[in-house]
Amino acid sequence: METPKDEKFRDSIATVDSEGKRSWVFPKKPSGKFYKYRSYVSYFLLAFLLSAPFIKINGNQFLLFNILERKFNIFSFPFWPQDFYLLVVSMIVGVVFIILFTVIFGRIFCGWICPQTIFLEMVFRKIEYLIEGDRGKQIRLSKQPWNAEKIRKKFLKWFIFFVISFIIANVFLAYLIGGDTVIEYITGNPFDNISTLISLTIFTCVFYFIFAWFREQVCIIACPYGRLQGVLLDNKTINVAYDYKRGEREEGRSKFKKNEDREALGKGDCIDCKQCVVVCPTGIDIRNGTQLECVNCTACIDECDHIMESINLPKGLIRYESEDNIIKKKSFQFTPRMKGYSAVLLILTGILIGMLFLRNDVEANILRLPGQLYQQKENNIISNVYTYKVINKTSEDIKDVSYKLLSHKGTIKLVSNHNFIVPKRGLAEGTLFIELNAAALKSDKDKIEIGVYSGDKLIETTRTNFLGPRSYK
Ligand code: SF4
Ligand code: SF4
Repeated sequence: METPKDEKFRDSIATVDSEGKRSWVFPKKPSGKFYKYRSYVSYFLLAFLLSAPFIKINGNQFLLFNILERKFNIFSFPFWPQDFYLLVVSMIVGVVFIILFTVIFGRIFCGWICPQTIFLEMVFRKIEYLIEGDRGKQIRLSKQPWNAEKIRKKFLKWFIFFVISFIIANVFLAYLIGGDTVIEYITGNPFDNISTLISLTIFTCVFYFIFAWFREQVCIIACPYGRLQGVLLDNKTINVAYDYKRGEREEGRSKFKKNEDREALGKGDCIDCKQCVVVCPTGIDIRNGTQLECVNCTACIDECDHIMESINLPKGLIRYESEDNIIKKKSFQFTPRMKGYSAVLLILTGILIGMLFLRNDVEANILRLPGQLYQQKENNIISNVYTYKVINKTSEDIKDVSYKLLSHKGTIKLVSNHNFIVPKRGLAEGTLFIELNAAALKSDKDKIEIGVYSGDKLIETTRTNFLGPRSYK
C-alpha cells in the first residue's frame, strides 16, 4: 500500500495516550445496513450461546465441555477420553479451517461471530447507549463531576452489567459442569456447593471486568487469533478496507465543498469528516490501512456510506475488499484461489462429520491383569485372568451384557457370575477368566476375539492376548 501522508499513527496506538495511560474509546452508535444484519446474526447466536447447554437431544446436552469429569458433548454427540483422536482431528481441522478462512475472508469471524464482540457490541454497549446516551453524551458524562445524574447513571449501568455478567457466568458454568447441574444448584441452597459458588463469583467478576472495563483490549492485546493476522493476511484477503485510490486521488482527502467537482479537481472522495474514526470501537482510523486492531465490525462501512449518501457520492468508499482489488479497481470476485480453499474447507468439514457418524456408540476393552501368568487346570484347560471395561456412549442403559468367544472354543467366566448392565453415558468394569483347551492354542500368545452381547445382539467386538505354555506351540 502507498504510504499515507500522516505517519503519526505508526508511533502510538489509539487506546493509549502519550503518558501511557488508557484512552477510553467512546464509539458513536453505529447504524446502517451492515449493523442491522450483524444485529440479526448476533441475536441468533446469543440465543444459541445461552440455550445450547440447556438443550438436549437423545438425552445428551447439546454442548458440554466438562474437563474435570472428562465428558464432552459436541452437537449432542458424547465424546469420551477414548475419543481423544477425534478431538485431535477436530482440532487439526479447526486450525486449518481458521487459517484458510482467515487467508480468504480476513477477520470476518471477529466482527460477526466472536462471542466477545457479540456480547460487547450487541449487549453491553447497547445498554450503555440506552443509559448514558450516544458518544457526545457519554464523553460529557465522563468529564462531569460526580453529581446525582452521574452517580445514578453509572451505578445503574454497573449494576445491570454485573447482573448480565452473573447470567453469562451461569451459562458458562453450564457448559463446564452441565445445564442440569447448574439448574439444580440455582434452585437449591447456593451454600450447599461452596466450590461452585466460588467459581461462579470468579467467572462473574472476570466477565464484568472484561465487558465493563477491559473491552476492546481483549481483541487488541489478549486475543491470540488477533495476533495471527499479521501472518495470515495478504493483499488478496477480503477485509474491511478503505479505497484509498478513490478516497485520496492525486490531491488527497479534503473537506467537503458544495457544488465542487472533486474528481475533476483531483481531490479524493474522502471529505475527512472522521466519522469512520469516531464510530470505531477500537478507536482506529481505517484510512491508515489494515491494522491489527481492526475487528472487521463494519461500523465504519455503514458510517462512511451515510456520509457518501449525504454528499451524493457513490457508497462503498470503505467496504469489504482486497488490497489487490482496490489497486486494480475491481469489485469483489470469487477467485479460483478462494474456490480452491473453500473446497478444501468443505472436504475437511465433511471428513470430520463422517468420522463423527462412524464412531462406535459402545467401546469395550479386555486387558490381561498385569503381572499374572496363565493357570493350568484339570483336563488340559488353560486359564488367564483379565480386567474388562465397557463404555456406553448412548443415552440408554445397555442391559443383559455378556461376553462370548468368537475366535476360539472355550468359556468366559465373569467374577460377578452374572450378566451386567452398562449405564447410559457410563461404564462397567470388572474381572473375568477366559479358559481354553490347550489343544486349541496355536502359540504361547494367541490373539483371541471376543464378542460383547446385549442379550443375543452382538454390540461390539474386541481382541486380547491369551497366554499358554510354550510346549503347546
Ligand atoms: S467516513 Fe468516509 S468520508 Fe468520512 S473520513 Fe471516513 S472515509 Fe472519509
Ligand atoms: S476499522 Fe472499521 S471495521 Fe475495523 S474495528 Fe474500526 S469500525 Fe470496525
